[in-house]
Amino acid sequence: MDYDVIIIGAGPGGIFAAYELTLLNPRLKVAVFEAGKPLAQRACPIDGEKIVSCIGCKSCSIMSGFGGAGAFSDGKYNITNDFGGTLHEYIGKKKALELMHYVDELNVRFGGENTHLYTTAGSKFKKLCLQNDLHLLDASVRHLGTDINHVVLTNLYEHLQKRAEFHFLSPVDKVEVTDGGFALTCGGKKYSCKSCVISVGRSGSKWMEQVCRDIGIETKSNRVDLGVRVELPAEVFSHLTDELYESKIVYRTKEYGDLVRTFCMNPRGAVVNENTNGIVTVNGHSYEDKSKHTDNTNFALLVSKHFSEPFHDSNGYGESIARLSNMLGGGVIVQRFGDLTRGQRSTPRRIEEAFTVPTLKATPGDLSLVLPKRILDGIMEMLYALDKIAPGTANDDTLLYGVEVKFYNMEVAVSERLETKYKGLYVIGDGSGITHSLSHASASGVFVAREIAQEA
Ligand SMILES: Cc1cc2nc3c(=O)[nH]c(=O)nc-3n(C[C@H](O)[C@H](O)[C@H](O)COP(=O)(O)OP(=O)(O)OC[C@H]3O[C@@H](n4cnc5c(N)ncnc54)[C@H](O)[C@@H]3O)c2cc1C
Repeated sequence: MDYDVIIIGAGPGGIFAAYELTLLNPRLKVAVFEAGKPLAQRACPIDGEKIVSCIGCKSCSIMSGFGGAGAFSDGKYNITNDFGGTLHEYIGKKKALELMHYVDELNVRFGGENTHLYTTAGSKFKKLCLQNDLHLLDASVRHLGTDINHVVLTNLYEHLQKRAEFHFLSPVDKVEVTDGGFALTCGGKKYSCKSCVISVGRSGSKWMEQVCRDIGIETKSNRVDLGVRVELPAEVFSHLTDELYESKIVYRTKEYGDLVRTFCMNPRGAVVNENTNGIVTVNGHSYEDKSKHTDNTNFALLVSKHFSEPFHDSNGYGESIARLSNMLGGGVIVQRFGDLTRGQRSTPRRIEEAFTVPTLKATPGDLSLVLPKRILDGIMEMLYALDKIAPGTANDDTLLYGVEVKFYNMEVAVSERLETKYKGLYVIGDGSGITHSLSHASASGVFVAREIAQEA
């Protein structure tokens, strides 16, 4: 065998798996294969001047490379079983929380010592939300911020490169099951290992599906979240964000009984493009460093769409809607809430005249031509509901960017050890369909590392 363990993907799942494995058994020969670049070489070419929108790089620096999709994220580590994934259904609620706290300790130790841990425990906003038929979910959240997240990742890489072998710009093409282990093909070469941890995140979703088809691992896919990113003056939400930083609020619409929820709140942050397999959607982040703060807060409003028989391709559905917005807008579309309610498109002039200055250069347009009516109606109803706890949310100049899509990787069939039907082949993180967040993905990495170290 070339290696004891090969980890595919250097996102949070892969990084924390490598960390824990090399800590528990330094004698293990561990290699990490990563499709993207080292952290120091990752840079999105959008500079707002020469390049204003996504040019579809071969390897998207936002999604790929050391740090994974989380590298330029807001670095919000939510410690909760209420959202961010269903890891607890496999390993138990207590264990899942314990591992998330362990990851938090590591983040603090590797550079996040001056960051803040926010919590909803005892918050007055729970009552205020309930009084307005809104539901605030329980969580603690460590906000590293994009800048400190970068510091933590730099320090983790510094630590790990002495203990594990990193192969960058090395997308694994194929995984084969061999006698007593696995053979990986990468760049025409074969590498063998006893155990393999696949942690390829959302950007590796299509590849993961192919691997499952090739070696006969069952998968299921029936959910996609669709919606918009809302951007408004930071003052509108400051009473909530100052105390909680991020508030996950859920609302049941009167019209259809659908659940709409806030997601990924970025106080004084920026809206960004996200390129997944050539489809441009929208996301957001913010810095811990006050000098990099903007005047705006952004968050997503999402509606989950679950499909039943005979339809299986929930991601395909989400992609088609995102493609529609890319077709109409050449990328992401932006619309003022006032224009949407009046049934008119936003024009460059209307956006320019708005009091809320957009942090992302998107194409002014009409989201009602993109999002299905039921989803758009739910989002509008939620904006009016939020307006009751944060007056100003439903103002004319509130900006809506679309579309925001949360693709859920198909769920890979794994045991409660996160192991596939092949002994020694583990699938973790967002690529497994089980996690959808930094903390859950990282915790799943620590979990399998302990499983492997125990057996080695
Ligand atoms: C802009 C943005 C902001 C976000 N903000 C937050 C946040 O604040 N809080 C939060 O909880 N979550 C956030 N997320 C989501 C979070 O980043 C992911 O949930 C998390 O990164 C998942 O970790 P992972 O290790 O499973 O996968 P990823 O981080 O996606 O890493 C997978 C890695 O595998 C590599 N890879 C893929 N295929 C192959 C292959 N065939 N061979 C080799 N390597 C491969 C990829 O290049 C990638 O680097 C954000 C995401 C984005 C894009």
